[in-house]
Amino acid sequence: MVQDKNWIATQEEIVQGKTTDVYFLRTKECLVKDNLDKTRVWAEVTTGGIPRGGKRLLFLGIQDALRLFSQAQLNVNVYAIKEGTILPHKDINGVRIPFLVIEGAYGDFAIFETPLLGCLCFQSGVGTSAVKLRIAAQNRSLLSFGIRRMPPAIAPVIDRACYIAGFDGISCVLSAEKLGIPATGTIPHALIMLEDGIVNAVKSFDSNIDKSVPRIVLSDTFNDERIEVLQALEALGEKLTGVRLDTPGSRRGDLIEIIQEIKWELKLRKREDVKIFLSGGLTEETILEYRDFADGFGIGTYVSNSPTVDFALDIVEIEDKAIAKRGKFAGRKQIGFCSKCQIYLCEEFSVEEIICPSCKEVMEKKLEKIMENGRIISKIPTEQQTRDFVLQQIDAIDSM
Ligand SMILES: [Zn+2]
Repeated sequence: MVQDKNWIATQEEIVQGKTTDVYFLRTKECLVKDNLDKTRVWAEVTTGGIPRGGKRLLFLGIQDALRLFSQAQLNVNVYAIKEGTILPHKDINGVRIPFLVIEGAYGDFAIFETPLLGCLCFQSGVGTSAVKLRIAAQNRSLLSFGIRRMPPAIAPVIDRACYIAGFDGISCVLSAEKLGIPATGTIPHALIMLEDGIVNAVKSFDSNIDKSVPRIVLSDTFNDERIEVLQALEALGEKLTGVRLDTPGSRRGDLIEIIQEIKWELKLRKREDVKIFLSGGLTEETILEYRDFADGFGIGTYVSNSPTVDFALDIVEIEDKAIAKRGKFAGRKQIGFCSKCQIYLCEEFSVEEIICPSCKEVMEKKLEKIMENGRIISKIPTEQQTRDFVLQQIDAIDSM
């Protein structure tokens, strides 16, 4: 008998506030009894650090947060840094940068702190790891293959973050449908095993699968990589587009030497155009190690199991009076950015112009009002537009 319970929260349950931490419900109960639930506050989302020792993060998740607030009919104002911005977590004076701000009656939105942070922390975590790899891989191809390590319900969330961060492809059929791009994949070991070897498997693939799908063959199932690559080449001839090496850790020896051998054999056969893809436990370090030898990488757990960006939501103003708990910076703030000097500077929100301390020019204000009294007022960009915005920023930085 299968347990008849769905352990994935529905959007309806989330909108009802059922995924909140119970202490928010109790807080709200007290505030209502004490007639304090309509107290107006200014609450900021900030973080004390960036995972994996990084200097910058990719800020993602606003669309889901806005959708939640809108569906829950929260009568609040929301300000946020544009989705897809790559930035540090502190300004040049060490002040924590507000990534998103909620202005409204605290009792109205208190219980949504938990799901709000859930949207921002996870997606920004995946996006930040994915940008690290995008920078490390330079112009090599990056494919998101990691959804199998996470609950299936969030597969499109992971792939969306990877795609926005500049990955070239994603493997999930549903993610591809939502993003409006083709899903990318090669051939699994299972097909080669069931078809009794690489030759039968690639012949079957070639005769049954649409001609527009690149013939990229997995070349490490039963035999040495070099042998299986040559068998696939013989079976497919000029139709062979690439090979994927998923060599198990126990057989790796020196992967670079294996690639060099395969390339030499391909060169002897005038097939230097055949691409070499790697997969299997790849990280930023291994991409840096292999990028001069491979044409692309299939990335799994490094992105799908990324450490989250630990955002927190804190009240910094109550009824126009600046206040903050220990460790946080009181008062409503705006964040200025100078693209010339690549400097971020927090200022009091009311300041008309924020001046760059280095070049003395007026800085661009990064916190933008995106929701007014519960109504979304900003234009929602497509994933392609946000991706273009990310790639532009990556051009200007050399590391995360
Ligand atoms: Zn400047």
